Amino acid sequence: QTDGNPFSDAYFYLSPDIKNMMDSSLAIVEKSGDVTLANKIKYVQRQPSAIWMDSIQTISGDPAAGRRSLEEHLNAARIQQEFHAEQNGGVKAPMTVVIIIYNLPDRDCAAYASNGKLIQVGKPSEYPYGANGIGFDQYRDDYIGKIVEIFKKPEFKDLRIVAMLEPDSFPNMITNTNEGANGEPANSSLNPERASLANGGYCDRILSDISHGEMVQGEGTNDKPNLGLYAAGLRLAIREFADIPNVYTYMDIGHAGWLGWDNNESSTTNMKRGVKYFKQLVDGADGVLDGKGLEMVRGFASNTSGYTPVEEPLISNSYNDRQALQDFYQWNPAVDELSYIDRLKDYFTKTGDAIGDSAFDPNKLGFIIDTARNGWGAPGRPTPGAGSKGTDSSKRVDKRPHRGHWCNVNNAGVGEVPKAAPDPSRPYLDAFFWMKPPGESDGISFDYTKMSAAEVAALDDIDRTVYESASDPVYAGKSLDTMCMPGESRENTTVDVVPALAPHAGGWFHKQFIMLINNAYPPL
Ligand code: BGC
Repeated sequence: QTDGNPFSDAYFYLSPDIKNMMDSSLAIVEKSGDVTLANKIKYVQRQPSAIWMDSIQTISGDPAAGRRSLEEHLNAARIQQEFHAEQNGGVKAPMTVVIIIYNLPDRDCAAYASNGKLIQVGKPSEYPYGANGIGFDQYRDDYIGKIVEIFKKPEFKDLRIVAMLEPDSFPNMITNTNEGANGEPANSSLNPERASLANGGYCDRILSDISHGEMVQGEGTNDKPNLGLYAAGLRLAIREFADIPNVYTYMDIGHAGWLGWDNNESSTTNMKRGVKYFKQLVDGADGVLDGKGLEMVRGFASNTSGYTPVEEPLISNSYNDRQALQDFYQWNPAVDELSYIDRLKDYFTKTGDAIGDSAFDPNKLGFIIDTARNGWGAPGRPTPGAGSKGTDSSKRVDKRPHRGHWCNVNNAGVGEVPKAAPDPSRPYLDAFFWMKPPGESDGISFDYTKMSAAEVAALDDIDRTVYESASDPVYAGKSLDTMCMPGESRENTTVDVVPALAPHAGGWFHKQFIMLINNAYPPL
């Protein structure tokens, strides 16, 4: 493995909050008398997952919802570390805690289920360039500022804090905006219509200042924009975290089905643009040339909350296999997460016109793959040798109707359990980790305001609990995205979600949790 992998030789923090959520499912299963399933749940309860700071409020916790504060989590991690030390004759081993930073201003411009609360108001022409809008101030003072203050507390200095910045949004900007140069849309086969669909060109507005090639550090006027507000938010966090020796920053890099396109010489493939923009973003974060540059970031986290498999056993590494890449893959050669990070690692550690003029040190770069829900062990899973290559659903493990589907995907299963440096042939793979706690919903699946009394009366107990949670003010700001609705038509396919009422993003989704466990691969 590469130097400084924060996951290696460490215990991982187990969040008691997530364990409690799983306990509610365990109680239901134990009551049904299914001992095998109950044991699997208990095993899953011993696996770590990440802590999401998805609002200013989450930093101070929400006891009523069973959520402790950031500081309580870090204290609990410290206690777990001490407990392990006692068990090991007083020898203190490293303890790794993964925190997801998920509340940047103008975040997630293309999804309704979980877009952010800190919004910078104003029409594009009024858009306040530079770091001086309301959303930004709140972010700086009440969100990132608070998190930094807590990370810096001396009592947490022996923890390894992995901070991940921030699911979906920067990749969204790379694909959901117009490239600009010739006025053509970006190379997004996933969802080119979304840029205009989401909040009236919201993504375009946010990225307007980086979409024309460079993220220049201007004077902050409309002619010479400072950097985009969203990028400014990311850069602030990168810079602040880089000053804390026990914080390891990773950037979210979408997943193979998002920025994987790289099968021609064009400089505008999603992957090349992505690599270049990420390098520019990080390089400029400390505002000084020849500063700490790329070393401020440890690496990249892929597939967060995603469903893309680690490996497609029949067609992995099919870079030149046109036959294998048609249809479902839309000529995207990154058919799985391993081929994705292999190629990314090459580009991030090299320089070039299309991929940026700085390079990560190959001995210090690492990737995390979220394996919480990409196991795909449902019946009918193909095995190597089980037939010829091909991309119809009987030949691939990924059973989604479209690779852009992200909401409570039907037939998914828990994947590899968290593990440091899981692949000796890939030293740059820092860890498999459960970034998304399996069982937490991706988004609500129904319009609770439109359900009749008769429909509500017909619900079983579990669905009724979900129905009742839908109007809980705790979820204010989260709304219905058609990607989460059964039978909706999106991306020229029919949305295929867990056939049950799904709670708001982050809410506990018992029926999904059970499905994920039953479809686990490797089997639990
Ligand atoms: C939700 C968060 C939640 C996270 C992990 C996100 O989609 O918006 O509230 O903490 O998923 O489940």
